[in-house]
Amino acid sequence: MTDPVQLAQTALAQGDVSLPAATEHREAADDYIDWLHQSPTPFHAVTSCVRQLQAAGFVARPHGGSLQGAPGERMYVVHPDGKSLIALVIGQRSPVDTGYALVAAHTDSPDLRLRLNPLSQAAGTTVLATQFHGGLIRRAWFDRPLALAGAAYQIVRGKGGSPKFSEVTGMPVVTRRLVHLDAPVAIIPDLAIHLDREKNDKGAVNPQTMLNAIVASGVGSLDEVVALLAAQSGVDFGDLDGFDLHLVPAARPQRVGLDRSLVTGPRHDDLAMVWCGLRALIQSVQQEPEPVRTQVAAFFDAEETGSLTSSGAASSFLRDVLLRVARRHVKTAKSADAEQAFAHTFCISADMAHAWHPNFQDLHDKQHAPRINQGPVIKANASDRYATTGETAATFAALCEAAGVRVQDFVVKQDMACGTTIGPITSAQLAARVVDVGCPMWAMHSTHETCGAEDLGAMVAVMQKFFVGGV
Ligand SMILES: [Zn+2]
Repeated sequence: MTDPVQLAQTALAQGDVSLPAATEHREAADDYIDWLHQSPTPFHAVTSCVRQLQAAGFVARPHGGSLQGAPGERMYVVHPDGKSLIALVIGQRSPVDTGYALVAAHTDSPDLRLRLNPLSQAAGTTVLATQFHGGLIRRAWFDRPLALAGAAYQIVRGKGGSPKFSEVTGMPVVTRRLVHLDAPVAIIPDLAIHLDREKNDKGAVNPQTMLNAIVASGVGSLDEVVALLAAQSGVDFGDLDGFDLHLVPAARPQRVGLDRSLVTGPRHDDLAMVWCGLRALIQSVQQEPEPVRTQVAAFFDAEETGSLTSSGAASSFLRDVLLRVARRHVKTAKSADAEQAFAHTFCISADMAHAWHPNFQDLHDKQHAPRINQGPVIKANASDRYATTGETAATFAALCEAAGVRVQDFVVKQDMACGTTIGPITSAQLAARVVDVGCPMWAMHSTHETCGAEDLGAMVAVMQKFFVGGV
C-alpha cells in the first residue's frame, strides 16, 4: 500500500509537486463516486445495480416467477418494493451440497424524507416538511444545498376516470416512477449564532421544527410553487397519488486530501459496501463464468430502522429466494431438502466500520482502532451485536491473506454501546455462518461521510476472492 507521507517527500525531493499517481484501487474509487452520485435513494441504488448487472449479462427474474437456472446463469430478483435486490450466479453444483457464497449489505442510509402533506408557506418562504429515516446526524443537514429524489406513484385509471383493477390480483393498479431532480432545490438554513448564543454548547436540533427545508422565496402562491416544482422535477403534488421522496445532499461526492486518498460524500454507509459487493460479483463471474458454488449478492433496504420490513434483512425475502433456487437446481437430488444449503453457507455481512479519529482518539480501544486506508475491518462483539465468531473471523482473515489485503479488527470500548447491522439478522434467518466486516470511515450518518479510497478496492479484492473461492 502506498505511504502518502513517503510519496509527498519523494515528490518534494524531486521538485515534482503534482499529485501522486492514482493506484488501481483509487481508480476504483472514482467509479464508486459516479455510481454513488447516481444512487441518491434505495430505489436508485437498486436501479444503479440493475444497470451494471444487465451490462454484465445478468437477467431479471420477477419475484413472482420461476427461479430455476442452469449452471453459470446470471440472474437478479428485485423485491416488488424496488428497494432491495438479490443477484445470483448459479453454481455448477447444488447449493444443497456446497452452500451459498453470500455477500450482504444495505441500500438505505439515514436521510430526510417528505411528510405526507409536506408543503406550506411561512415567513415569506415555501417550506417542505420532512421526517427522518434512521439515526441521522441532524446538524449535518443544515446549510447544505439539497436535491430531491425518490419514487412517485400514480393510480392507473380506466374508462370514466375510475381506478383500474388488475384482472389477476383483483387489486387497483398503481405505477411507480423514479424521480431524481439532480439540482440544489432546497436548503435548511441554520440559525445565526447571534440569535442563540448558547448553540455551540447546547444546540439540540428539534427534528419537528428545525429540519424543514425551504424550496422557494417570494414566488407567490403555493399553487405557483407546486407548478414550479412540477416543471423542474416532473413531480406534480397536485396530481400525485403517492410518493416516497427524499431530500439528499446535492453536492457530488469527491476525493479529498493532498494525496486525494479520502472519499467524502453521503451514504457511504452502506452504499460503499453495496458497490463493493456488486463489483466483486461482476468481476468474479468475468474471471470464472461457471463457478462451483452459487454466488449471491443481497442488498437490503431498512437496515437503519431495524430491518423489519417486507424487503429488509429480517424479512423472508432472501431465505425464500435461496430456498427456491436450491430446490430448482438441476443437481439437487430429489431426496434432498433445500434447507440443507444453509448448513454450508458462508455470509460476508458488509457494513461500514468506525475508523480511529485523530480528533477523538479516546473513543477507540487502542488494540481495536481501525485506520483509514489500512484495509477491511472485522467487527466482533461478545453480546452478539455482530455475528462474527472466532471461526468466521479466521475465515475472513484467510480470504484477505489470499487476496493480498491487510485486515484490521474492531471491538467497541466496553464502556460504550455497540452498533449492530444485518449480520446477526441474516445469521439468525439462515442459521448460517456470518462474519461482520466493513471499510473504516469517519462521521457515519453525516451528510458528508469520509472513507478511504484504497479500502474500497481492497474490499472488492477480498470479496472477489471469496466468490471465486479456492476450489
Ligand atoms: Zn450501515
